[in-house]
Order: sequence, then C-alpha cells, then structure tokens
Amino acid sequence: MSRKLLCWILAFLTVSNHSLIADICCETEKCPAIALLLMGPPGGGKGVQSKILSAKYGWPQISTGDLLRQQIKDCTELGLKVENLTKSGQLVPDSIILDMIFERIQQPDCQKGFILDGCPRTLVQGQLLDQHFQSHHIKTVVLVLDVPDEQIKERLLHRIVCEKCGTPYHTKTLPPKQEGICDRCQGNVIKRPDDSDAIISDRLKIYHQQTEPLFEFYSSKGYLTRIDGTLSKEEVSEKIEQVLTHYTCETTCQ
Ligand code: AMP
Repeated sequence: MSRKLLCWILAFLTVSNHSLIADICCETEKCPAIALLLMGPPGGGKGVQSKILSAKYGWPQISTGDLLRQQIKDCTELGLKVENLTKSGQLVPDSIILDMIFERIQQPDCQKGFILDGCPRTLVQGQLLDQHFQSHHIKTVVLVLDVPDEQIKERLLHRIVCEKCGTPYHTKTLPPKQEGICDRCQGNVIKRPDDSDAIISDRLKIYHQQTEPLFEFYSSKGYLTRIDGTLSKEEVSEKIEQVLTHYTCETTCQ
C-alpha cells in the first residue's frame, strides 16, 4: 500500500473516531472526562460491551480482573498476593484495587474518558472512587447489566475466554472457529479456573452481598441506569447507546 494512501486512511480514521467522541464530548477545556462504570454480575456481558464502547469512543477499557490476571501471569509480587483470591472467586482487598485504578487512570489515554469493567465491587471502592472523580472533575455514568442467576450459571459454565485479549466464547453457542484459538488475536482460549460450578455460586453470592448495595448509592446520586442484560449483544449495545445520548455537552459541560 502506498504511503500516501496509508496517510489518507489514518486521517479518515482519526476524523471519524473524533466525531464519535464528539457525540458526547466537545473536547474543550470545560468538558469533563467521563468515567463509564459497567456493572453487573460476573458473566453479565460487561467485558463484551466495554470492548464495543471502547472501539466506538476510543476510551480505554480498564478491567480490574484482566489487570489482576496479568499480574498473576507475570508472577509479580502483587500477582502472587492475589492469585488464590481471584482463582477462588473471593474479592481482592479494596486498597489493592484502588491503587491499581488510580495509577491506571492517570495515564494519558484516560484523559477524555475511560470504561471501568468490573470495578467498583464494594461500597468502599465506590465511595472512594466517587470522591476522587468529584475532586478531579470527572463525570460518572453507571450502567448495570441485569441478568438472573440461572442464566449467569449457564453462561459461565460454558464460557471459555482468550487468555490474551479476554474475548469470551461459549462452548455450545459461540465456539472459536479453530478449537482453542482466539478468532481475534490467535491467543489461547481457555476455561477460567473460577468458572466452575461451586465458585460461580460463591461469586454470585458475593455480587449480591457486596456489589449490589452500590446500586442504591449510585442511584441516589442520579448516576445509575439499569439495562436488561438478557437481550442480545447488539440489543444491549443499542440500549447503552440510547442512555449515552443523554450525556451531551449540554448536560455534562458546566
Ligand atoms: P472478573 O474478571 O471481573 O470476573 O474478576 C476476576 C476476579 O478478580 C474476581 O473474582 C476478584 O477475585 C478479582 N477482582 C476483579 N475486580 C475486583 C474488584 N473491583 N474488587 C475486588 N476484587 C476484584
């Protein structure tokens, strides 16, 4: 491909991506960054929708689960500390999660906005993030993907995921084209150790006990919208779009 053609394509991609972001952000000084919090039970579709939103708005997807799994894979000190907790479906201490998030959102790619996938998961995490966002002029938008427990169990028992890019598959309804290999990045597709019957039940219990109280907290602040996560991937994505159209510059820039 000629150098000139490549430049034209890059210029087009930059302009089209810019205009999508401009749908909800004028990108002026007064326009706050947006923290888009995707919440819901494990296997509720947060990862899939975060990826779609990240591609559309150009904001990074920050998955605390992925960040922790990377630490475990790299055998870091932190990885060793959290390995047993993540593999058994228990929550990692709030201080570890918050340090990780605060460090990540300071990166330049988070300046306009970012998507938190799987965080916060406790009231303490939510309250401390909220304090931070308010003091840093960051607008919070919370979307909860609701899926009943029975459906979650079915999804997670058959879930396999790419070790490298996190793309989820379903052994029956959406297997990778080539067994064990990710369609998107050719990474290894594996069964997560915490997607086993007993651990799924524990994770759901923790979700109901420790994460759901956050909904009242965010609801009282007017940040929260609930979305039916049992709909198809495309339908959920459309519903999210509808919610985000309310966040125009008129409502977010003050
Ligand atoms: P996920 O990939 O989001 O299902 O997360 C996998 C595991 O990482 C969880 O079961 C927890 O052990 C840990 N984890 C991820 N995010 C958090 C969080 N915000 N707070 C505490 N633990 C977390």
